[in-house]
Amino acid sequence: MATMDETAELIRRNWMSVKTQVREAAESVGRNFDSVRVIGVSKYVDAATTQLLCDAGCTDLGESRPQVLWDKAEQIQSCGTSGVPPRWHMIGHVQTNKLRRMLRYDPLIHSVDSERLLRAIDDEGNRQSRVIDVLLEVNISGDQSKTGMSRETLKQVLNIEGITGARIIGLMAMAGWGTEASEAADQFQSVASLRDELAKSSGLPLKELSMGMSGDFREAIAAGATMVRIGSALFEGVV
Ligand SMILES: *Cc1c(COP(=O)(O)O)cnc(C)c1O
Repeated sequence: MATMDETAELIRRNWMSVKTQVREAAESVGRNFDSVRVIGVSKYVDAATTQLLCDAGCTDLGESRPQVLWDKAEQIQSCGTSGVPPRWHMIGHVQTNKLRRMLRYDPLIHSVDSERLLRAIDDEGNRQSRVIDVLLEVNISGDQSKTGMSRETLKQVLNIEGITGARIIGLMAMAGWGTEASEAADQFQSVASLRDELAKSSGLPLKELSMGMSGDFREAIAAGATMVRIGSALFEGVV
């Protein structure tokens, strides 16, 4: 078992290395490092280890389960000595009965996968007199085991009128299981074109593209990802 200090050092090094690789991936396609937000997916580790990641400087944290997000958000008040609180990202399926409690921690919800969930977020935003930013999750691979909406459903959802408590700011996608990097590249390019198409038809900017994980963030950045969700690469040697 590594001590907490050793774990902290490992995580710090992994974080530096991931940042360097993201920077190189961005610059190799003529993009700025600043145009890609790295979200550290902390679902593999407990709150104490998640705290170490945030202390290392990774202040955007992603969780795939609402209960875990709120438990950790209760425990992790700020990152390092900066006093800066982490920014939470919900990247997994959200049941509507978990929504209100989770929203206390103001996460960016990447994984809006149904009209029903969007309407529930809208209701909650209206109830709290605020506008909640969300991304719509697209099932680009057509893989039935993957979550996310089809193109047709996305179009319908973007056409719903009178949504005032939620603001759709972009799309989220995952490559299909066992996809080769070259195939993932094609899938990410399709997400980017779909975004362009939907932005045009809906009149919404849809600026954000959340795509790319430890194994395929380079392809996602080349296709225009503005957020990459990286988990395992940050916890190499730790879990
Ligand atoms: C777990 C997870 C990630 C991180 O994947 P890694 O391969 O560990 O980097 C990204 N996005 C979603 C939706 C996840 O569930």
